[in-house]
Parts: sequence; C-alpha cells; structure tokens
Amino acid sequence: QAKAAGRNTARFFDPVMQAAASARAAIEADLRVALSNREFVLYFQPVVNELSQTIGVEALVRWLHPRHGLVAPGEFIPVAEQTGLILQLGHWVLEQACAQLVVWSEHADTRRLTMAVNVSARQFRHPDFSNQILTLLRMTGANPYRLKLELTETLLLTDFDDVIAKMSELRSIGVSFSLDDFGTGYSSLSYLKQLPLDQLKIDKSFVRDVLTDPNDAAIARTVLALAASLDLGVVAEGVETAGQRDFLLASGCKAFQGYFFGKPTPLEQLRLETAPDRFGLLHQSVRR
Ligand code: C2E
Ligand code: MG
Ligand code: MG
Ligand code: MG
Repeated sequence: QAKAAGRNTARFFDPVMQAAASARAAIEADLRVALSNREFVLYFQPVVNELSQTIGVEALVRWLHPRHGLVAPGEFIPVAEQTGLILQLGHWVLEQACAQLVVWSEHADTRRLTMAVNVSARQFRHPDFSNQILTLLRMTGANPYRLKLELTETLLLTDFDDVIAKMSELRSIGVSFSLDDFGTGYSSLSYLKQLPLDQLKIDKSFVRDVLTDPNDAAIARTVLALAASLDLGVVAEGVETAGQRDFLLASGCKAFQGYFFGKPTPLEQLRLETAPDRFGLLHQSVRR
C-alpha cells in the first residue's frame, strides 16, 4: 500500500491514483483562483408545503469555471473540504445567503421564506464558526429566524458535546438546524435525541424508489414517525414525481424539495409561488 510506503516516497505508483491526485491538485489550484475571482454562484431550490407553496429555499453552490463551465458541488466541495478552502467558500455562501434573506425580507410575498445553507463539518467545527454567523447576521441585518443550517451526520462522529454547545448557542438567537441526508450516515437514535435539531431531511436515495421498493417506503415512514415523536420537522428531498409526493404526503410528510417542484436555479430564474401573505406589510416589523 502507498500509505505503508511512507509519506515522502513515491505514493502514486498506480496510474489511476496518480491521475486522481493530479486532478485534485488542479482543482485545488483552480479553487484558490476562483475564490479571489468570485467564480461561484448560488442556485436556489424551493422547499414547498402540502399545498406546493414555497416556504423556503436551499442555497446550492455552483462554480462557474472559466474553462469547464458550470461545475456541480460534488466535484469541488470534497476538495474544498480537504484543503480547508471550504472555510472561505462557506463564508461566501453564508454571506450571499444572508444578503438574499434581507432582500426577501423587504417584500410581503417573500419575507417569510427560510434560507437553508449547507455547512460542512470542517466549517462547523472551526472555533470561530458561531462568531462568523453572528457577525454576518449583524452586518447584513438578516433575520436569524429565517436561517437554517444543514449539517450532516459525519459531524456527530466526534466532539459531540462541542457540537451540541455550538448548535445551542446559535439556536438561542433563532438560527435553526436540519440534519441533511438523514439515514445515510451514522447517527444513533440516542445521539439524535440529544441534538438540538429542528428538522430532518429524508435523503433522496430513499425517496427515489419509495413507490416500488417496500424497504424504502418503510424507511421513509419510519423517519417520519421518528421525527414526529421527537417533535422534529421533516423535508423529503429528491421528490421528482407526483406519485412520490402523494405517498410521502399520505405518510405524514409536510415539506418537500425536488425537481417535481423546481430544480435549483439562479436567482434571476427563480419563480417563487409563496402563500398569499394576508398580513402583508403591516407586520413587516415583526421579526418572528
Ligand atoms: P444536499 O444538501 O443534499 O442537496 C440536495 C442535492 O440534491 C442537490 O445537489 C440538488 O440539486 C439535488 N436534488 C434536488 N432535487 C432533486 C431531485 O428531485 N432529484 C435528484 N436526483 N436530485 C435532486 P447539488 O446541488 O449537486 O449539491 C450536492 C451536494 O453538495 C449537496 O447535497 C450538499 O451536500 C453539497 N453542497 C451544495 N452546496 C453547498 C455549500 O454551499 N456548502 C457545502 N458545504 N456543501 C454544499
Ligand atoms: Mg442540503
Ligand atoms: Mg441532502
Ligand atoms: Mg449531501
């Protein structure tokens, strides 16, 4: 094994590994340039309620690469995490998301939208993370009650008490937390019970075959029951058909996200069918 051969000896004797390593190095170099050239763009995907009205969005980053065009996060987020560049990228994403919340807060039909932002474990674990959020909220004027941070189960593997303390601190000012890709990770039920969470997101891998695979159907129903008994909200992700939505709805799911309702889109193309806001501007100064 290359690992056994030691750190500074020829590690990439395998041409496939060699190619992968130089691809990663190329992405890393490009990422550094991209951060200073602002080559990233946020796409937004609607999260809807039982009536298909948009109740929020999830911010999903894309890289507008000068040569490769639009690059999906799966291609560069892992490299950004490994290199630590996720700290800068994540900060940019949060800043954009907060700024957008402020814009939406100024219009009656969008002011109640929530903004979900993915936060990688490395980013969340940074000692300065809470301060960053507090500073961004203060500087932008965004309402913390509209900001949802999406964490994944990998975060729960170590320093569990630290994670709880940080979440609690941010929750005390109104920020809420979702556990993303729920069911694909490692969370034990006892961990889940202790976490100051607001919401679970049913991973799209369970939604995809929910109508044809009895195991997936059972998992989806179990997550919904679990969430109900822990008093957590649920969003089903990856809903692509009316059939999937109907099954999940009948199983008690109240919030949905997926191509059936809308793909992630740049701001200019985002069509938000929000619920009519009967209180309108009268209540604009009410922050909750
Ligand atoms: P995620 O947070 O679980 O986001 C949902 C992913 O599912 C998105 O992929 C979205 O485009 C995709 N999706 C939504 N609806 C459907 C559907 O109906 N069918 C299918 N097949 N897919 C659907 P995307 O945008 O490629 O993002 C992939 C992952 O990259 C995200 O998964 C998230 O983990 C990560 N990511 C995206 N933006 C950020 C970010 O700003 N920061 C961090 N740390 N991670 C991010
Ligand atoms: Mg997410
Ligand atoms: Mg997910
Ligand atoms: Mg994910």
